[in-house]
Amino acid sequence: MDFRRVTVVGAKRSGLAAADLLRRRGAEVRLLDEQPPAPDVLPQSHENLLAGAPDLIVISPGVPSDLPMLAEARQRGIPVIGEVELAGYFLKGPVIGITGSNGKTTTTALTGHILKECGVPCQVGGNIGTAVTSLVDSSRDDQWNVLELSSFQLETILQFRARIGACLNVTPDHLDRHHTFENYAAAKARLFETQQPGDFAVLNYDDPVCRGYAEKTKAQVCWFSLRQQVSNGVWQREDKLFWGNQPFMIRAQIRLRGLHNVENVMCAAAIAHLAGASPSAIGAAVESFPGVEHRIEFVRTLEGVDYFNDSKATNVDATLKAIDAFPQGLWIILGGKDKGSDYSPLIEPLRQRAKAVLLIGAPPPYPYAAAPLIRKALDSTIPMIDCGTLENALRYAREHAEPGDTVLLAPACASFDQFENYEERGRVFKHLVQGLF
Ligand code: ADP
Repeated sequence: MDFRRVTVVGAKRSGLAAADLLRRRGAEVRLLDEQPPAPDVLPQSHENLLAGAPDLIVISPGVPSDLPMLAEARQRGIPVIGEVELAGYFLKGPVIGITGSNGKTTTTALTGHILKECGVPCQVGGNIGTAVTSLVDSSRDDQWNVLELSSFQLETILQFRARIGACLNVTPDHLDRHHTFENYAAAKARLFETQQPGDFAVLNYDDPVCRGYAEKTKAQVCWFSLRQQVSNGVWQREDKLFWGNQPFMIRAQIRLRGLHNVENVMCAAAIAHLAGASPSAIGAAVESFPGVEHRIEFVRTLEGVDYFNDSKATNVDATLKAIDAFPQGLWIILGGKDKGSDYSPLIEPLRQRAKAVLLIGAPPPYPYAAAPLIRKALDSTIPMIDCGTLENALRYAREHAEPGDTVLLAPACASFDQFENYEERGRVFKHLVQGLF
């Protein structure tokens, strides 16, 4: 791959890291962004993209790969690759790539934690925080690169190869950018399509899309399943988790709430085992994992009412899992920026477990308000209160919740109508909860 003159599109974390890596390798780099954050970043335009006749175009995961101007570049024979593909040319050591609609960050952090606790060298990055190109300098031949990879990062890979690839689940998300569920599933499939014989694909047997990926890979498939025994992989019976016929840990060692986290543990345990961790040491490592901020994170108990922050539940499936992790007596905060979701799957679980839905979100004329759509989808099945802000929602919950109840922020929506991102939404929630008296 020739990269003397490179144009990088998208000047946020991944784009900046890619530009930095390329410059340090002697390339002449132009950086483009829709909203240039600094004077040396050019506005994203047709002319700027092709000016200087680049040998290569690198796009950040935030940039849609089907932009018309990129099609023109491709027509002119200029390769267009993503930041992860670029990193793959330089990265030393084998890759563990973890994808899925929900649970990527938890499973990636957990895998890194297990490997470290078991004495297997690794570094962790990708969508979870550090851009993959930023891991290049610290990569070593004898060290695993444990990477969280989103559909946007995988969509553009060509040769990027994971020694161990894993997929947790594939449920509708990001359809605003991938347009169809098939495109979205196909983007994630790339992780397995580029694998070679001798690699491993760790797949959720219970998820039909994941199961389909087994047909698309040359890697050896290792399954995990909550529901049935699998011969090559991880499954559970009663209080134990098994690898093949061998029990290797007990369920009680999982401190994270919810059945979905058992799946995450199974997936991480399978990966860690394939990467060289001793099965007998995995249980203790899982037990010492503290969990990740904003994922069903316990905040406080006040007068017998528990408060949980699951601000990362930005889609319906994640919210369903969160609801499932609690018995009854839920006061659930829903709403924010709609992503074109179908909220009707929430009806039944909410009817069974929720005392009320507290709706939040920017008021009209904000065009992507989810609250009215949720109200319509849930109809009159359970009480719904229009709260507007997190502050109002918490005030309402504080006044009405009874001992034994749970107040849960798991909004099923993006946060961008009222917050910088889901992290800020979660921090504000925690701050408000701590301030309740
Ligand atoms: P991701 O990085 O894929 O967004 P996270 O670990 O950050 O995944 O979790 C995102 C949300 O999905 C959280 O609300 C979490 O409670 C929920 N979740 C975590 N693991 C799973 C899973 N295996 N299946 C469904 N939902 C999950």
